[in-house]
Amino acid sequence: MSTLDTVIRLAYLAAAACFIVGLHLMNAPRTARRGNTVSAAGMATAVIATLVLVIDSGMVSVTGWTVLLSGSSVGALAGWYFARTVGMTAMPQLVSLFNAVGGGAAALIAVHDFTGAAAAGADLPARITVPTVLDIIIGAVTLTGSLIASGKLQGIISGQPLIFPGARVVTAALAVVMIGAGGYLATGAADVTVLVVLALAALAFGVTMVLPIGGADMPVVISLLNAFTGTAVAMAGFIIGNSVLIIAGALVGASGGILTKLMADAMNRSIANIIVGGFGTGDGPTVDAGAGGQVRAISADDAAIQLAYASHVVIVPGYGLAAAQAQHEVRELADLLQTRGIKVAYAIHPVAGRMPGHMNVLLAEANVPYSQLKEMEEANRELARADVALVIGANDVVNPAARRPGNPVSGMPILDVDQARSVIVVKRSMGHGYAGIDNELYSDPRTGMYFADAKKGLAELAAAVKTLVG
Ligand code: NDP
Repeated sequence: MSTLDTVIRLAYLAAAACFIVGLHLMNAPRTARRGNTVSAAGMATAVIATLVLVIDSGMVSVTGWTVLLSGSSVGALAGWYFARTVGMTAMPQLVSLFNAVGGGAAALIAVHDFTGAAAAGADLPARITVPTVLDIIIGAVTLTGSLIASGKLQGIISGQPLIFPGARVVTAALAVVMIGAGGYLATGAADVTVLVVLALAALAFGVTMVLPIGGADMPVVISLLNAFTGTAVAMAGFIIGNSVLIIAGALVGASGGILTKLMADAMNRSIANIIVGGFGTGDGPTVDAGAGGQVRAISADDAAIQLAYASHVVIVPGYGLAAAQAQHEVRELADLLQTRGIKVAYAIHPVAGRMPGHMNVLLAEANVPYSQLKEMEEANRELARADVALVIGANDVVNPAARRPGNPVSGMPILDVDQARSVIVVKRSMGHGYAGIDNELYSDPRTGMYFADAKKGLAELAAAVKTLVG
């Protein structure tokens, strides 16, 4: 082994260590930012080491370099621009797009290597063909699945489950084609036509897998696709013999897999159902989620009286808080209540918002003490003792319809807001949440609807509390 090889391997080792340390630092909000920097430093090290390796090998032609440099410059600039300008609420769509390009890129590596080896008439041993088949299947499914998921989150494609007649049969047929073609290629057959069939079947499978998923189930599918991206990248690492790709991909695959399991448990779903597809449609025929009752609209002053004379308030943040960027206003209101000796806690639902940990990140930005954030179980205990549940821009995660079968949120554990003595809901209208169904909480006699944008409404609420208590 040459000195350069040794240096490259050491650089890869350092990069892998950075990924692991970075991931570990992301365990706590206090160190998460540092974790990101450490991981990015690892990635920069890996990229530089690979560039040195490529330059030294002299394999790349002038045209190759032109393509490589222009492609990576355009990619880097686009990534930098979107990451800087994207709003917090559009982050899940962006992450989904990143998953798509990651999976697609990994699949292209396999296609390139396979077609090159087939054209050269080279022997294709199982240690290459097996990861090649897996890479193409997982990478292609991730590419189209993530594009559909991103479209659903962006509202370009309906967030409702989209099921066309015979969809399940088509999905099953595509799975059979993938297994058949993949199995054939894995035996070492250098058949490019079969490879194309495999890739097309996997691309179509990604579409038919994600289209029927809707309602409140998207978080699970997004984290599953994230795990797929990592796995596809690890397979690409096996194909081209790059250890840092294997390690980085395996880390993303494993952590994404764990997150998927946690999210599925939180939603009371099974991961097997996700892959089979269509699980977002509920357990049976869709029934009315049950609204229709009269709602009681209240003013900022009415809400302020309830809050100022409570002794225990539980705040339930949801997507609307993020959309309005009202995290600082909610913190100010909570501080105000606490100075009056009122106990305040925040109830955090694992899928509130539009990405895992969305509420935690949002509230951390406003320096809300972590000790005040209560996870589901503890939050529900607090809600049962609370005088007021203040629901801000949350809808699906507090929808009692989840306790009944036959609707898009059926079976999803919810925050038991209706157990509190009284409920104040801050939202702009009777508009639906992500699952697109009515919410009977709003017509509960104990609920007062304070119709306002969360940012403006909370500021008015704080002002009203101040006026009231002097
Ligand atoms: P929802 O999407 O159920 O509801 C949000 C509510 O916020 C809407 O009803 C809307 O009502 C209100 N709102 C929007 N903008 C504002 C604003 N500016 N001010 C005040 N209110 C506003 O949110 P939840 O957090 O309750 O539930 C999250 C949903 O998203 C779940 O179904 C979850 O499965 C899904 N999801 C979650 C992901 C995750 O990883 N966390 C990823 C993908 C989907 P109005 O228009 O009347 O104001």
